[in-house]
Amino acid sequence: MRVSGWGRTSWAEVTEVPIVAGVPTAWPRAGVPRGLGRSYGDAAQIDGGAVLVPSAPVPEPSWRGAGTVRVHAGTSIDELLRWSVPQGWFVPVSPGTRFVTVGGAIAADVHGKNHHRDGSFCAHVRRMRVATPGEGTVVARPGDDVFRATAGGMGLTGVVLDADVRMLRIATSWMAVGTRRVDGIDDMLACLAEADGRNRYSVAWIDLLARGASLGRGVVSAGDHATVADLDAARRADPLAYAPRVRAGVPDAVPGFVLNRPVGRAFNEAWFRRAPRRRDGELVGIAPFFHPLDALRDWNRLYGRRGFLQHQFVLPDGREGTLRHVVERLADGGAPGMLGVLKRFGPAGEGLLSFPRTGWTLAADLADGPEARALLDSLDEMVVQAGGRTYLAKDARMRPRHLPSMYPKLTEWRRIADRLDPDRRLTSDLDRRLGLRGSHRGR
Ligand SMILES: Cc1cc2nc3c(=O)[nH]c(=O)nc-3n(C[C@H](O)[C@H](O)[C@H](O)COP(=O)(O)OP(=O)(O)OC[C@H]3O[C@@H](n4cnc5c(N)ncnc54)[C@H](O)[C@@H]3O)c2cc1C
Repeated sequence: MRVSGWGRTSWAEVTEVPIVAGVPTAWPRAGVPRGLGRSYGDAAQIDGGAVLVPSAPVPEPSWRGAGTVRVHAGTSIDELLRWSVPQGWFVPVSPGTRFVTVGGAIAADVHGKNHHRDGSFCAHVRRMRVATPGEGTVVARPGDDVFRATAGGMGLTGVVLDADVRMLRIATSWMAVGTRRVDGIDDMLACLAEADGRNRYSVAWIDLLARGASLGRGVVSAGDHATVADLDAARRADPLAYAPRVRAGVPDAVPGFVLNRPVGRAFNEAWFRRAPRRRDGELVGIAPFFHPLDALRDWNRLYGRRGFLQHQFVLPDGREGTLRHVVERLADGGAPGMLGVLKRFGPAGEGLLSFPRTGWTLAADLADGPEARALLDSLDEMVVQAGGRTYLAKDARMRPRHLPSMYPKLTEWRRIADRLDPDRRLTSDLDRRLGLRGSHRGR
């Protein structure tokens, strides 16, 4: 079968190998675990090889003491939330879509709007079982080599089978949200930093087509889980109600011009004007707050057949000048970037290849094409020079030479990955393109 990442830029011909009763039926010569294919580039595929997929049906989650859930790696965050929210528990970290598996969340060590406070997904994993070609099934706990290499290890150390995840107690399925519309990049950075001090969750949507005095304008949204006292009488009747719906999808044959620069500019303008300058205490459901894009099935097809690149990088604190420069380049660039998402990260976790580290992170969608790729190549240079890095789960085009400086713990990670998979059966198009596992000669 033919598969791609969410950006639909690189495709691979793969065979599916189901993971039955906890272990792959046979380790293929070249294969990689695959969850729901929500990584944007080529991390969950290997052209001419196999994808290791959870065999259905995936068992239900179960509680292991107060607040810790044992969950199969093939369970999606969507399924987990439908099970846990009515019981008064939320996932400790949620990415911008709930259609990711727990295995994918561990392998990319995903972050959410609360990274500044709670860190990334694996900071809340207490134990996981990992099936490895070299050492069989290993139980890994925080601090172990296997844990540090698998958290953010992009599926190249083994197949995560299940995990014990510490959940977050909630009293309602509503969020109490504050919104600020900001006119330019300096206000934006100040507003986000200030929001972080007061809120568990914060994020900013930034207009990447605005220039001049409006450069970096956007909308900061921040909040926390609402208490029962925050709700009106109607909502109090069922404070933990949770049944998100998904609207009919986008057809596969959308022409590529649907999201071009003029359309993007008009959309951004309307969206910016619609946001209130300042609003507090608005009640918003979990789904529209955390997963607004999930409301429209297959929205990635809006970019047409050529697909799109999502680019996400992080810059250390003190590199705000570089951030401004990147936003300028995106706004001036020929490739239509639409909305960007800006956020502050807190300290890094223990994953050797995990992406988040303290600083500013920006994610931008760009229609794929030579101009976009050239622009992103030049942004990579700026990011590397500023001591930052790009996110492997979103990457589809980075050059391998940047890898060691972006990920300084790469050598340590390779040593552990080689121990767990000495014959290098685990490989992906991402691995091949970037040389993640390194050359055999270097061993
Ligand atoms: C709309 C949208 C919003 C997003 N927002 C965010 C965000 O806010 N923050 C963020 O961090 N990411 C975000 N992402 C990226 C996404 O969270 C990650 O790419 C995640 O890894 C996808 O999970 P998946 O189950 O789809 O995995 P896949 O895309 O199928 O695979 C991703 C990686 O996980 C590995 N993997 C999958 N299952 C297993 C397993 N059982 N054992 C070992 N390895 C495994 C694969 O080999 C691959 O390397 C977003 C993606 C989309 C489409």
